[in-house]
Amino acid sequence: MAKNCERTMRRNTNAVVEDLLFPGGDPDVTATSRRHEAIYEILTTMPDESYNSLKERADTFDWFIPDALSRGRIERWHARVYPKKKTIGRFKEVPYADILYLSPQLETAAWDIVLAVVAHELAHLAQNHQVICDADLYKKQEQEAWELVRRWGYAQQVKKLNAVHVRRDTVEKREIEESKAKIETAKARKQGKSGG
Ligand SMILES: [Zn+2]
Repeated sequence: MAKNCERTMRRNTNAVVEDLLFPGGDPDVTATSRRHEAIYEILTTMPDESYNSLKERADTFDWFIPDALSRGRIERWHARVYPKKKTIGRFKEVPYADILYLSPQLETAAWDIVLAVVAHELAHLAQNHQVICDADLYKKQEQEAWELVRRWGYAQQVKKLNAVHVRRDTVEKREIEESKAKIETAKARKQGKSGG
């Protein structure tokens, strides 16, 4: 079990901007965007090992942090990685850029949830995880990402997010059961009518 480390300021915003890791390059945006605020907090306190890994990857990924008010737009991402004759299963890998998507929903989510989600996605990048993979590897990578986020000092936040997920699963299950029951009732009613 990895030890959780304290979150302390390890570098300032200028360093993050200079390392080309801050989305858009203008830290003032943290005043109006909680997603950017979370990115700022996570990148300035992250342990060096993970930070350096992200720094090395800075030119291979891009952010997608759409404004909550934007209804739609065209966005172009340029290929940044040019794999050399690599195949994944029966697919040949083509040039790509990895996109880190952060939903505008996070702007109204609890702060701990914002931190947990942003840290989790950054953890995938810091660990150079495969984006295209089978179910087993997906599960393994998810566990690794959560473990790393805990080590960055967000154990409490991960716990809260898990609780939200459990709650959401329960609600979803109940809704499915309810709609199944409704269909059954409707069927029974129909059969009753046609039968008698
Ligand atoms: Zn994940």
